[in-house]
Amino acid sequence: MSWLVLALACAAAAAAILVREQLRRRREQAKAYLKGVRSMLEGNPDAAMEALSDAARLAAPEAYDTYLALGALFRREGDLARAIRLHRNILLRADLAPERRDEVERELAADYRRGGMLEEAEATFRPLVERGDGAAAAGLRDVLVDRGDLTGAAELQRRLAEGGEDRLLAHLEAALARRALSRGAPARAHAEQAVAAGPGSADALLALAEVEAGEGRAEQALSLAARALDAAPEAALLAWPALAAAGPAALPFVEARLAARPADAALWVLRARLLLAAGRQAEALPCLAGALERDGTGEVTIAMRELLREAAAPAPDELAARHDLMRAALLRRAQPLRCRSCGAATPLRAWRCDRCGAFDAF
Ligand SMILES: [Zn+2]
Repeated sequence: MSWLVLALACAAAAAAILVREQLRRRREQAKAYLKGVRSMLEGNPDAAMEALSDAARLAAPEAYDTYLALGALFRREGDLARAIRLHRNILLRADLAPERRDEVERELAADYRRGGMLEEAEATFRPLVERGDGAAAAGLRDVLVDRGDLTGAAELQRRLAEGGEDRLLAHLEAALARRALSRGAPARAHAEQAVAAGPGSADALLALAEVEAGEGRAEQALSLAARALDAAPEAALLAWPALAAAGPAALPFVEARLAARPADAALWVLRARLLLAAGRQAEALPCLAGALERDGTGEVTIAMRELLREAAAPAPDELAARHDLMRAALLRRAQPLRCRSCGAATPLRAWRCDRCGAFDAF
């Protein structure tokens, strides 16, 4: 029996050594991981990357997720060289599971896009999209918008949305309609598709209003503008191109809306702009002063500074009033609008954030 006892004792000893070895490795991983997280928090990204590389070499599952979080942090902070280096390093690892590889490639493509390397971004997204990766298709769509390929982006979005209401497609078709308008090309089909994709989208309704107004159908244009302002009162400043194109009927339209919403600063700006366009400078100035008074967010104040900068020179008897208004607009504290998605500031409201490309971001 003694040989059996001896064998058992040996096996137990071997098992104990194995367990201790595993424990030691786990402890080392945990230490490297902790050091990486600490360096990251202390704002030392190079040390963080090094420590996390150690942890990743030891194959800690936490390290991988932290790597991705670190890469996203670098990208968000605009440190794109680091983000790209980090994601490329992960891709070099031989033991990366295929589904994780796709995830890292999407991250790398997002780094390229953020860095303005749009060709690289497209080339990284494309093979993923061909493999049926929906998240990569959304990324590719955004790259196409950045490249000015609105048609390609709308096509991709149509495939992604599979019918039904789609506000993003509405934005893309509205942008296509405006581009056609600015080039004197047929725009109606795009504007109608925009409204079909997003019947409640103020952007789509205003794009169609701009087309109607351009064709001299002021009544249709203003009824669409009314629907847009009902759907998104905060976007009232963006109704300007449609109202400007609608002719003299636009002024009574805005005045009627003002009667219902007298505290809406953006409507006061629209009224002032229409008065200015009609050459009624003296009436416009009190409207702008009214807008300034009622501006709760600061958005209208900033828009007004732009407007006053671009306005024609005042008549001699209006100089003092204009000067007072300009001074009031400049003295007033006003925070610019910030993108909800990337935090970028913009002086003027837009449908799409210039920096990150998000729609409805402000
Ligand atoms: Zn943004």
